[in-house]
Amino acid sequence: MTTSLQTQLKYDVEVIRADFPILQRRVNGHPLVYLDNAATSQKPRQVIEALVRYYEFSNANVHRGLHTLAEESTEAYESARAKVARFIGAEPESLVFTRNTTEAINLVAYAWGLANLKPGDHIVLTDMEHHSNIVPWQLVAQRTGAQLHYVPFTPEGELDMEALNDALDLQPKLVAVVHVSNVLGTVNPVEEITRKAHLAGAKVLIDGAQAVPHKPVDVASIGCDFYAFSGHKMLAPTGIGALYARRELLEEMPPFMGGGSMIRRVTHLSSTWADIPTKFEAGTPNIADGIAFGVAVDYLQRIGMEAIQQYEQQLTAEALRLLEAQEDIVIYGSRDPQRRCGLVSFNFKHVHPHDVAQILDARGIAIRAGHHCCQLMMRRLDVAATARASFYLYNTVAEIHAFIEALDDVRKVFGIHGGR
Ligand code: PMP
Repeated sequence: MTTSLQTQLKYDVEVIRADFPILQRRVNGHPLVYLDNAATSQKPRQVIEALVRYYEFSNANVHRGLHTLAEESTEAYESARAKVARFIGAEPESLVFTRNTTEAINLVAYAWGLANLKPGDHIVLTDMEHHSNIVPWQLVAQRTGAQLHYVPFTPEGELDMEALNDALDLQPKLVAVVHVSNVLGTVNPVEEITRKAHLAGAKVLIDGAQAVPHKPVDVASIGCDFYAFSGHKMLAPTGIGALYARRELLEEMPPFMGGGSMIRRVTHLSSTWADIPTKFEAGTPNIADGIAFGVAVDYLQRIGMEAIQQYEQQLTAEALRLLEAQEDIVIYGSRDPQRRCGLVSFNFKHVHPHDVAQILDARGIAIRAGHHCCQLMMRRLDVAATARASFYLYNTVAEIHAFIEALDDVRKVFGIHGGR
């Protein structure tokens, strides 16, 4: 399957793997099989080298200096912003660098939410949300008197669109929804949700943490008002992420944080703000990681997001096919790999997922087990935790097979017979 798949897609996974030094590692005496990509991705040497090059060659603060290094640093940081913006179909002025998705959502909650929400206003979220798209809204709702509503999902792991329609009848001020679920892998119909929410008069925020790394995303065709994502899940370093927001909204929103860089003029009692997006980047930004984010985007674009998406779908299809054949395993979410991005959550019927993850780790296989920062979803699924294998552009079919075979170790440890 590996060969035919690669020929079909002109996708050479071995060439890609050679760019990722960590994939040479052995863990507990076995070659590392890294299937925890939804938590964070590994980094290619191009990204690692960009960090070293920056610090060895052009390190200087941005936007302030008149010397050569400061100019080089500013130019590299701003050109990274332009690349990341273009990657999601946005203008650079509409892209604010943040630490991660969580900070991007908090920026909207505090800058837009506190200024625009009042008692009795409605905010619509879903039962699929990551805590980072729940807790900021709870904090803002407590301060403004706005009310939260949650749209459930169906037993097939898709958003209940009828329930969404009912929630929109409340004429909410905001609909905040995850693009791709980090537990079920469900790809939500964000274009349709945005269109309907706008007709109801709501602004739309999309949590794209699991979408931008794995599929083509174009904020202009989605039509949303805000879109948040993290660099570290898409080959970039930790500590850098982004918020896209429609230009008019960024212009009218008050700053999130105050300090250096984000001002135009400061007097004793008040200040005026720099142009967007700098207005939202107080203090010295994460220059090196921002530049490396641009390099990560270059890397993904060279391979092509369609090709990456298709390749991951094949890995997911193979994992689903093999997991489905095991009678002692429950799979969560859609069985159709076309309807999900590259991850699968599952549980043994009688083994805690933490034990599964530990036993697989002894074979060098890294998966995640826990609530995945989705306790509302865990409650709906009626479980405390799930095991999750998540894939990326450098994983192979052989690794999926190694993962499935290692599940037999779980059966041996727990004395479970059969399975397949
Ligand atoms: N949303 C989703 C769907 C996620 O999967 C994650 C990361 N697990 C986040 C938000 C938060 O991302 P970060 O920790 O990078 O802010």
